[in-house]
Amino acid sequence: MLKDTLNRWPLVRQILSGADGTGVEAMSERTRNLRPRHEGAEVARSVCPYCAVGCGQLIYHRGGKLVSIEGDPDSFISRGRLCPKGADSFELLTHAKRETRVKYRRPHSALWEELDLETAMDMIADRVWEARERSFVEEEGGEVVMHTKTIAHLGGATLDNEENYLIKKLFAAGIGMVCISNQARI
Ligand code: SF4
Repeated sequence: MLKDTLNRWPLVRQILSGADGTGVEAMSERTRNLRPRHEGAEVARSVCPYCAVGCGQLIYHRGGKLVSIEGDPDSFISRGRLCPKGADSFELLTHAKRETRVKYRRPHSALWEELDLETAMDMIADRVWEARERSFVEEEGGEVVMHTKTIAHLGGATLDNEENYLIKKLFAAGIGMVCISNQARI
């Protein structure tokens, strides 16, 4: 009885166990009984979408719903670690204020309006083609160049190798765009 009572004091537990006070001996009973929210959930391995480091992530899900995203200890790149951005990627999918509609601000307007995706894609395609038609240069200084410098493409780090390959082929070979880069190079 007395031993049980004394054992409730972290200092006593530390002395009795000979530990350094940074482990379970320093925890309250409530803390010792806490369980990770992903306990018992299914898990899939993935890669953080935010930058070119490519840290490994474990995606925990239960009943078709995302439960949590943690660092993958088996990743030879990050060995279980995630920077603050990667550690917060759970909210990339779950945050209540996540934008899920296309926002458009007309020239000289201070207001954002929502567009459906099809309308937005048509507008982008029309403007790219119009700019290309207006600015395409076949020759420069006696050299055949076949390019336009008025349109640029900046990809995001969520694009994978295959997508970047297709973007380069489509925009460079397809319409003569030369200004093509990716956030992952920054
Ligand atoms: S954003 Fe952070 S966690 Fe994600 S890949 Fe880059 S360094 Fe790793």
